[in-house]
Amino acid sequence: MSEKKKNVLSCIQPTGDLHLGNYLGAVKNWADLQKKYDCTYGVVDYHTMTMPYKAKNLRENTWKMAFQLLACGIDDENLFIQSLIPEHAELCWILGNVCSHGRLNLMTQFKDKALQLKDKDKDAFVSGGLFYYPVMQAADILIYHADYVPIGKDQVQHLELSRDIAQRFNHQFDKEYFTHPEPLFTKNTKILSLANPEKKMSKSLGEKHYVNIFGDENRIRKQVKSAVTDTGDSEGMSPGVQNLFDLLEASGRMEAHTTLLEDYEKGTLRYSDLKSEVADGLVELCRPIRERYDEINSDKKKFKNKIKDSSNDIRKTARKTLREVKELVGILNPKD
Ligand code: AMP
Repeated sequence: MSEKKKNVLSCIQPTGDLHLGNYLGAVKNWADLQKKYDCTYGVVDYHTMTMPYKAKNLRENTWKMAFQLLACGIDDENLFIQSLIPEHAELCWILGNVCSHGRLNLMTQFKDKALQLKDKDKDAFVSGGLFYYPVMQAADILIYHADYVPIGKDQVQHLELSRDIAQRFNHQFDKEYFTHPEPLFTKNTKILSLANPEKKMSKSLGEKHYVNIFGDENRIRKQVKSAVTDTGDSEGMSPGVQNLFDLLEASGRMEAHTTLLEDYEKGTLRYSDLKSEVADGLVELCRPIRERYDEINSDKKKFKNKIKDSSNDIRKTARKTLREVKELVGILNPKD
């Protein structure tokens, strides 16, 4: 009999379009993991409410993110929308009571995000939800008994909290019930802004700083052509050149990567050659994703229904967990 596959769980907030950094740093890896693990991926719309957002955009952005994940190779049966599975919020409430206020106070991301808010607007409102959202993350993970959670370094502390909550719950209710989720660190491809390679590629830096994987090919070419290479003040390979080599590798152009790297080492590399290979690589990488996205957008209803169905299916596991948890904590009597 074949061994049961381990469970992988990861989630993303519906914050507009996925960019090349999201794809190469996270989503491509999610798609690859599906070959080896039982994967469940969520678009976590409730999390978006913890920072200022526009109500009129939330629904649209949620579906958009779900469609973009499908276009990037996430199987529809592995994908759910958090708010379609209300058990997450119910479990979050229960777990909040096995987690001390002091423990939540240690979360550095709360402080960072609260500061970010204050920086933007000194009267900004730091919500209770922002403080509490690591508990919701723990619920997102523990409800599916995830063995592994693919994360970046910025999420290590939150995953530790999920593990602590699982341990505390198991101890308090005297049963090894929740799995202790482990981080899954894969090759860490940090993609830098082409316009400012001192910074991580991100939408918040502005239009010219991120590559839209669903965008126009000519725009991608233009962005690569104008990418900053050497600023003259770094020792060894500059961050901009390193970023271009990373992009070449990530787009699978290994032969060009080796040859151009040899040129670099000999001091004969022409940046225009490197850029032209990177541009071709990125255009080839993004084309099938964009074509699939167009296909999905031409029949949104069909794909919405698929995701609603998969959310319903995934919900069965969430319901089972919540029922068992309610019995353990004394809310529900199994005989009732
Ligand atoms: P965010 O919406 O910024 O929270 O990003 C969603 C996911 O994409 C997270 O797993 C991030 O670590 C990843 N990500 C975002 N920007 C980059 C980048 N420039 N390079 C690599 N990974 C990134």
